[in-house]
Amino acid sequence: MTQPPPRFAPAQRVSKFEQDVWSIFTPLAAETKAINLGQGFMNFGPPAVVQEAAKQALDTVEANQYSHPRGRPRLRQALAASYSPEFGRQLDPESEILVTAGANEAMFATFAGFLDEGSEVICMEPFFDQYLPNITMNGGKPVFVPLRAPEHAADQTISSEEWRLDIDELKSKITPRTKMIVLNTPHNPIGKVFSEDELRAIGKVAEEHDLIILTDEVYDRLYYPPLTKFPRIATLDGFWERTITVGSGGKSFASTGWRVGWLIGPAHLIQYSFAAQTRVVFCVNSPCQEAIAAGLEASLTQPLFQDQTKAYLTKRAKLAKVFDDLALPYTMPQGAYYILVNTAKIQYPKDYVFPDILHQRGDDFKMCYWLTKEIGVCCIPPSEFYTKDHWPLAKNYARFAFCKTDDVLDQAAERLLALKKYIV
Ligand code: GLN
Repeated sequence: MTQPPPRFAPAQRVSKFEQDVWSIFTPLAAETKAINLGQGFMNFGPPAVVQEAAKQALDTVEANQYSHPRGRPRLRQALAASYSPEFGRQLDPESEILVTAGANEAMFATFAGFLDEGSEVICMEPFFDQYLPNITMNGGKPVFVPLRAPEHAADQTISSEEWRLDIDELKSKITPRTKMIVLNTPHNPIGKVFSEDELRAIGKVAEEHDLIILTDEVYDRLYYPPLTKFPRIATLDGFWERTITVGSGGKSFASTGWRVGWLIGPAHLIQYSFAAQTRVVFCVNSPCQEAIAAGLEASLTQPLFQDQTKAYLTKRAKLAKVFDDLALPYTMPQGAYYILVNTAKIQYPKDYVFPDILHQRGDDFKMCYWLTKEIGVCCIPPSEFYTKDHWPLAKNYARFAFCKTDDVLDQAAERLLALKKYIV
């Protein structure tokens, strides 16, 4: 970045921010006409019922004006109707649900609402990259505990459930300053869906140290057989009273650009996320809230989510097959829409020239850059989801998203087969 004159110097809280992975790889995919399996957005629109409702909302006067800062009543009602059975309790749309400007702002507002200078927040590594600045911008200090793949993941395809958290290691990270544990299930980028037993163990640690649990469940409607139920920590062993759950209209209804998300939790927690959010966005964009409400209402009587899961299963199978054909090991995700592939066997030409910005990044940035530019399929280097000290852990991985139409996945598969001659 160019240096501003001292009087225009940025605040400490943003001064160390690097260019993020999305702003490197999304334009690169566009420039090089690569098929973009990088950033996780869909190349298809929301279900017709949702899209129609958005258009209709624009035609009404009220849905173009400010919404209630907690969220439009229709959406909060629809969320209560959809999520009460999921949570096994009657959710109160007045105090236990908050509509947010996407899941990211939901988490930002929660950190703003609970962290003081120096409060520690435990995150599992790899972590979705936004958590870090969201925590530090609000005075918090992220503390990391790893999810580890078994050793045989280097040469065999595994299930995402085999990535494990060591509970004793989690306990060892807790200090008197620890305020919160951030969970992510289904996990980005691994695809792991934490089992009830794992969630119970994590919840018990939170209980022993009186910590808040912030659980990012934005992919909660995308989990795959043999799982028949999505385990939620908020429903287990009385953890409800310390848990805030994050949800996303963008992921559930293929509308990532609408920025409609939500928080669900007990009133005594939600009130502080709400207090902070009112000062960040005041209220969330109105027409899209109406449309997400329509989608949730429809899902009560139509198999919207079941059909979507079926479609995603086909997509997962298409992308997985190409890595099977190439004999590249990967992690088969139990949920979400990413496949983490082990790239150790791919050898790009030794004399390949990379742009300077990549030299300050993890080695996986080079692999993903080469794949994008020369093979024509964009993917994401997962070291972005690790702290710098741990970048080497990600050096042999690339993340491919399958939230794309089948024809695009077929084309990507065809291009990826060109990797054969680079595999040793
Ligand atoms: N959640 C999406 C991903 O992981 C997009 C993230 C973003 O653009 N900030 O790809």
